[in-house]
Amino acid sequence: MTTDKHNENELKHLVIVGGGFAGFLLSKKIDHRQYRVTLVDRKNFHAFPPLFYQIASSGLEPAAICFPFRKELRKLRHVRFHMGEALSVDTEKRELITNTGTIPYDYLVLATGTTNNFFNMPELRERVYTLKSTAEAIRLRNEILFCLERACTCADAESRRTLLCFTVVGGGPTGVEIAGALGEMKKYILAREYPEISPSDMRVVIVEGSDRLLQNMSTEASTKSRQYLEELEVEVMTGHTMKSFENYVASLDNGEQIKSHTLIWTAGITGQPLEGIPAESIARGKRIITDEYNRVKGCDRIFAIGDIALLTEKNYPKGHPQVAQVAIQQSELLAQNLNKGSFDTPFHYKDKGNMATIGRNKAVADLPHLKLYGRPAWFTWMGVHLVSILGMKNKIITLLNWCWYYFTYNATLRLLIRPTRFPKRNEE
Ligand SMILES: Cc1cc2nc3c(=O)[nH]c(=O)nc-3n(C[C@H](O)[C@H](O)[C@H](O)COP(=O)(O)OP(=O)(O)OC[C@H]3O[C@@H](n4cnc5c(N)ncnc54)[C@H](O)[C@@H]3O)c2cc1C
Repeated sequence: MTTDKHNENELKHLVIVGGGFAGFLLSKKIDHRQYRVTLVDRKNFHAFPPLFYQIASSGLEPAAICFPFRKELRKLRHVRFHMGEALSVDTEKRELITNTGTIPYDYLVLATGTTNNFFNMPELRERVYTLKSTAEAIRLRNEILFCLERACTCADAESRRTLLCFTVVGGGPTGVEIAGALGEMKKYILAREYPEISPSDMRVVIVEGSDRLLQNMSTEASTKSRQYLEELEVEVMTGHTMKSFENYVASLDNGEQIKSHTLIWTAGITGQPLEGIPAESIARGKRIITDEYNRVKGCDRIFAIGDIALLTEKNYPKGHPQVAQVAIQQSELLAQNLNKGSFDTPFHYKDKGNMATIGRNKAVADLPHLKLYGRPAWFTWMGVHLVSILGMKNKIITLLNWCWYYFTYNATLRLLIRPTRFPKRNEE
């Protein structure tokens, strides 16, 4: 029997913080006859991080991979969206405190993902470009286009080369993907659209601390991705870490200096647990320790899922990789357990494989029983991402964009649009 809106307040109140892969899915999968849900997020839309690099490289428009919560949730009974920054939890009073109000809860789910980690170089926050949100991806896109335009009118050869040097720090999937996209720009776009610039003046460098790219994948995938990047004229420096980035100079541990206007930092992530979560429940990487049912250690009625959660099992003694599939699977299981009202099914991660794309016909895929490279991996990568994007319209727009770009290398999205002034609002 369904419960109508009149007795909504009799339902248990489930508050979910974070509308990423984990939180957003949970808000859909929870039994809306048993729970009323408040989904809290600082943004008013759900986003698809694996394609942020395509926004940054002008391959896709933001609307293709971002979905307004209100539109997605409108058909779900008893689900409300609350835009605000969650600040802390009062575990005694069972209240979530946000910058836009206090929300009482019966059950609280933390699905806040991660943010950039600059390790012991906090000054980088102001100096580098990152790819952890749609806004950061748009900021990077504008920076890339700005540098190309400035280089067209820059008379000084050294300044021009600095403007045209893009350094990516971090050789994981995000670093490899954005470096590949920049390499394609150098190889295929520059001569055609920016005749004032000599492609040889543009430099794309990727710096990785360990001895190979794509550490989380097979050695074959690492070798292939390096080969693909080098084919796109990207300079790959493995086994080196960046020590500082000052006055547009990146200094490496071997003393090498790279003069680079734009530094793209993809080298680290960290959790951001809310105040009020006990210190003993927070582990390395500021992840929140949970048991096998995603219940936060030492807290009553509080759960953590997705990137922010640290749950260990036999094959993952240090916790699961911070990837979409873990977030999705934890969210599905938590919904199941909450719906049953009994916690008897523990979490076991089913690894469905890893992929990264470097450019047109250049990708690597480690699937459970199969390793793919080149064109087959690239088509697999496209298929998997198309299926995962929400909404038929977005799938079609993305597919059309990819097909168009595949045949023409023409992206109509290289638009440099920046706000010129911000009106001051009272709440700021
Ligand atoms: C550039 C990039 C590429 C990636 N590529 C891949 C890939 O190819 N394959 C893969 O499997 N994984 C990939 N990942 C990782 C994957 O995106 C994450 O594992 C996944 O998004 C985790 O889901 P989540 O729900 O835990 O967190 P997120 O998806 O990060 O969602 C967290 C949500 O919480 C909100 N939030 C955070 N703090 C607060 C707060 N205090 N108050 C209110 N709201 C808050 C955020 O706005 C966000 O909406 C990539 C990640 C990035 C950044």
